[in-house]
Amino acid sequence: MRCSLFIPSPTLLTHLDLQYSATAMLAMDYKLSMPSSSPTKWWSKETVAVVTGANKGIGFALVERLAELGLTVVLTSRDVTRGKAAIESLRAQGLDIEFCQLDVGDSSSIMAFASWLQRRFGGLDILVNNAGVSFNEIDSNSVEHAETVIRTNFYGPKLLIEALLPMFRRSPATSRILNISSQLGLLNKVSNSALKELLRDEDKLSEEKIEYMVSQFLDHVKKGTWQEHGWPKVWTDYAVSKLALNAYSRLLATKQEGHGLSVNCFCPGFTRTAMTRGRGSRTPEEAAEVAARLALLPPSELPTGKFFKWCTPTLYSKL
Ligand code: NAP
Repeated sequence: MRCSLFIPSPTLLTHLDLQYSATAMLAMDYKLSMPSSSPTKWWSKETVAVVTGANKGIGFALVERLAELGLTVVLTSRDVTRGKAAIESLRAQGLDIEFCQLDVGDSSSIMAFASWLQRRFGGLDILVNNAGVSFNEIDSNSVEHAETVIRTNFYGPKLLIEALLPMFRRSPATSRILNISSQLGLLNKVSNSALKELLRDEDKLSEEKIEYMVSQFLDHVKKGTWQEHGWPKVWTDYAVSKLALNAYSRLLATKQEGHGLSVNCFCPGFTRTAMTRGRGSRTPEEAAEVAARLALLPPSELPTGKFFKWCTPTLYSKL
């Protein structure tokens, strides 16, 4: 049973709830197996983790969890007021969190953030690209905001990664990038065979090809022909943004193999946040628990180029 952002029928709901009760146990076991003195603990207060879009939702819960586990965590938010309110609520719990403004849709904000991070910490160990948008309602599909969605969900992580790549410490533990993605962006959601072919051919896949795919989609949106070209049918603009993110992550993982940087994607499944208008089969804390587990896998067990469906790595769609 795959996790899905869409829950149209009570039967499906039951399946997801059942699936969740099993995975909740896994998440709980994980929590129990990660006390601060655990032998698998490879990180320390010197380990710097950055989480984007962390003023609310899954990102906020992830910052909280990583800070509880003893890392130095940078909470970033595009809006300073919302970011500072988030920081205050975490500090009120005794958690020591750093803050910096970061709008992933704005390249000057990305550059300013990279300079701040360099000055403040001299580098980083973990980047979680969590910031994301969707303007779709649960049971509707619109491409009205396609450009913003693509800019935020695909170009945002890509430009941030490019800016931070030279700053990953890559030692003593492997540095990590965890891109919070979605199964809506898996290749099996695409029915255009030429597009599938392009994305499947990993030896020939390039950033240019991924960006070309994205520009084709935006062009189809502009011309009003997007429904004829075999793009994903559900939350189309969001799905294309995550399709591109998944493809880019896989490409980057291959390029970085052997250079001390792992790159993986994680689909948290249907989670009760602002993006889903509070609907979902799990809480942001439960999703963040699994994200933290993946971000902190022991170096010897850390894969690269994987797409994690909740706790399970999968390559069934190649991306
Ligand atoms: P959320 O509660 O709406 O949080 C999204 C976060 O991203 C907010 O902090 C938002 O900031 C921030 N953001 C949006 N645009 C940004 C930008 N340009 N620069 C920086 N931050 C920006 O949604 P969520 O469910 O926690 O989503 C987190 C991630 O999980 C997303 O990547 C989403 O695609 C993914 N995901 C969610 C689900 C689900 O069911 N919830 C399922 C699969 C994947 P503002 O408060 O300023 O808007």
